[in-house]
Amino acid sequence: MTSVVMQADMAISQIVKNQKDFFRSGKTKDLEFRIAEIKKLNKLVQQYEQDIYDALYNDLNKPHYESMMVETGPFYAEIKHTLKHIREWAAPEIVPTSLFNTPGSSKIIREPYGNILVIAPWNYPFQLTFSPLVGAMAAGNCVIMKPSEHAPHTSAIMKKIINENFDSGYIHVIEGGVKETQELLNERWDYIFYTGGPEVGRIIYQAAAKHLTPVTLELGGKSPCVVHKDADIKLAAKRIAWGKWINSGQTCLAPDYLFVHIDAKDKLIDALKNAIIHAYGNEPIHSSDYCKIINEKHYNRLKGYLNDGEILFGGKFDDEKLKIEPTLLFNAPFHSTVMTEEIFGPILPIYTYNNIEEVIEFVNSREKPLATYLFTKSSAIQNKYLNNTSSGGVTINDTVLHISSSEMPFGGVGESGIGGYHGKFSFDTFSHKRSVLIRGPQPLDNFLRFPPYKKGRMNLMKALLKRFL
Ligand code: NAD
Repeated sequence: MTSVVMQADMAISQIVKNQKDFFRSGKTKDLEFRIAEIKKLNKLVQQYEQDIYDALYNDLNKPHYESMMVETGPFYAEIKHTLKHIREWAAPEIVPTSLFNTPGSSKIIREPYGNILVIAPWNYPFQLTFSPLVGAMAAGNCVIMKPSEHAPHTSAIMKKIINENFDSGYIHVIEGGVKETQELLNERWDYIFYTGGPEVGRIIYQAAAKHLTPVTLELGGKSPCVVHKDADIKLAAKRIAWGKWINSGQTCLAPDYLFVHIDAKDKLIDALKNAIIHAYGNEPIHSSDYCKIINEKHYNRLKGYLNDGEILFGGKFDDEKLKIEPTLLFNAPFHSTVMTEEIFGPILPIYTYNNIEEVIEFVNSREKPLATYLFTKSSAIQNKYLNNTSSGGVTINDTVLHISSSEMPFGGVGESGIGGYHGKFSFDTFSHKRSVLIRGPQPLDNFLRFPPYKKGRMNLMKALLKRFL
């Protein structure tokens, strides 16, 4: 009997127990072990690359090329960056020792939390499961991943890659939906990393609170996009169209709605139409480069939004294919569902503005979004917008791309999430930063520290603090 079959029979509680035992064995604390296992993971993904692409196509009609660009590509980049820097990230960080602790030395050591639960969504089902995994492995943890049940093909191939090749005590995939996730949440974890919507995010946070378990919550929201009159309109349209309609808008940080300066409205709308036609042809529903909506529930939800405003372009749909055209929706009321819920689909509500202050006021009247985009050549407008709004991240004069950097944390703020990851930020996310002070063995002590607190010490201590702190 292979270990896979044995694992299939194992109860969740048993797998979690195995992981706790594995972590306690201390194996994952060895940097060479971590490096070897990350390299092994890299090779396995290369080996199964075609199967991953097929699975993503089956789940989302995701074109193979797009899967390479937004699913496996970022994963390989994360691995490469991690392997390049892991030794320096894992090294103790020597910090100055204060005068009062002299003689002595101080350092911060990054130690693995231990047992990690990664809960992933369906929209980038491979990347959003395996990228956090890389960080968690690099930091020396044991990991259980729970992919989304709504992308079953990708979930199955990830399970195959992991469960057939790694010790179940080290890293393991558990498939399932709400029931399995809740069973997992009943266990005690050292860290929970969740990606998905804010409603479920609250459930995860509550479950974590029971044991004061730290969390990262990678959530979503309505990410505003603003096009000022001085922007290169054609370029802006091309970049907005890419960020909005890649994965058919089912991207957590896709532009959710758009504000365009009144003077640039007609030009931008024409340019957006041209950009859509250039990317997906006159009938996007039949384009092999255009993804489908994940399931009927989301498809019907999105179809409902089409009635919320005036359709300037698109609006057609196909019930068989579960596809909805890239759609430009003008002046939907702010209280309509398309403007009160995260769209997470191919519909783009558009509004005009006269001055940037109006936009800032609107953005600030809503929850803090995961991302925001601004197209303008004016650094004064850029600074004004940046200084007066808040969001998880920002790309100026493009969309989505700030997520692609290993040098910057990716995450939300407020309603769009807690914490961030990628590159060193992943390593730090999955590490406890332990402060270590090593006092010298010499019997040299500051006598002011110890009682009895004799008269006159107060002034002496105050003078010292003033002088040295
Ligand atoms: P989803 O329905 O796949 O849910 C996410 C995960 O939570 C799944 O693994 C699912 O099984 C689990 N889950 C669902 N209901 C649960 C419950 N009641 N109890 C416990 N677990 C439960 O994905 P979704 O929530 O539809 O994902 C879409 C949302 O995710 C959007 O809001 C999007 O913006 C956000 N998102 C954020 C990021 C990011 O990186 N910040 C990335 C992708 C998606």
